[in-house]
Amino acid sequence: MVNRPLKSPADLAAAGLVPPESLPALDAVAARYAVAVSPAMAALIDRSDPDDPIARQFVPDPRELDLAPEERADPIGDGAHSPVEGVVHRYPDRVLLKAVHVCPVYCRFCFRREMVGPQGLGTLSAEALAGALAYIAGRPEIWEVILTGGDPLVLSPRRLEEIMTGLQAIPHVRIVRFHTRVPVVEPERIGPDLVAALGASGKTTYVALHANHPRELGPAARAACARLIDAGIAMVSQSVLLRGVNDDVETLAALMRAFVETRVKPYYLHHPDLAPGTAHFRLTIEEGQALAAALRGRVSGLCQPAYVLDIPGGHGKAPLGPAMAQGRDGCFTVTDYRGGEHAYPPAPTRPPASQP
Ligand code: SF4
Repeated sequence: MVNRPLKSPADLAAAGLVPPESLPALDAVAARYAVAVSPAMAALIDRSDPDDPIARQFVPDPRELDLAPEERADPIGDGAHSPVEGVVHRYPDRVLLKAVHVCPVYCRFCFRREMVGPQGLGTLSAEALAGALAYIAGRPEIWEVILTGGDPLVLSPRRLEEIMTGLQAIPHVRIVRFHTRVPVVEPERIGPDLVAALGASGKTTYVALHANHPRELGPAARAACARLIDAGIAMVSQSVLLRGVNDDVETLAALMRAFVETRVKPYYLHHPDLAPGTAHFRLTIEEGQALAAALRGRVSGLCQPAYVLDIPGGHGKAPLGPAMAQGRDGCFTVTDYRGGEHAYPPAPTRPPASQP
């Protein structure tokens, strides 16, 4: 049983998660991209399975040093939309507030892998945070603030409360959303002080939980989510579609059902981003659309996330389907969940004449 985070290939070897002979290759990866596996995630890994989907997400792989020409250091274009340090303002009514660039685990497919980790962009200074809050306060169109990073729930309750108190003073901010993996990868961190800090702004607060495989939602993770939800915090999910982790409909269905059973509404299923060294995780969009269509035929509407792509370069999110309706000359062919096709008539061009 591992009781501390594993932060190097040597730690992983000592815990039996990688063979000692792989250390030179994995040390080269770790010199480039941060490594951390939390005790909760290490405990989930089946050491007898060379294709374990939990290990695949967190244990480094020599293929991470193979760069594909289409990959980019900043795949979703944060830098192009950052007016002040710590803020990404891509859409009119919401901003990202990146308070910290540290995570309790480092995902091997991370879209911000060039920014996070011990050598990453660190924690926002008090001055930079004040500048970020001033930027938000000066723009009444900002309705929602999304704390992301890194993982904002690695911050201490005291620091989180400072940020939330700063947001409390901005009346036009009505929604605060946290993007995090902590309830799953470090559930013990979701204690009373942290829960109270998340609610300290008095705003409607959402937690978007990142998890990719149903095994991540074990009893401790579900209990951590319950502590948040029972305190009045709404939860939604986000997952990344990953080859070798969740690229089959049975796993996706089990994952979405696990979210719903935990009172976490499935929100986004992300097509993987063009992050450096992650080609071995990527599916084609056609494969993703086929899985999204299969999921629609398999599980309840409550279990349906939006399958989306962050358009490379910072152009925002686009839903990728599945496209269930094809139109031509005002008529539509609508596909049902079994694949059957049905005609849908055009709308009347004007109201029907009233009867005498
Ligand atoms: S928790 Fe999020 S930000 Fe941190 S490594 Fe994973 S994907 Fe990247």
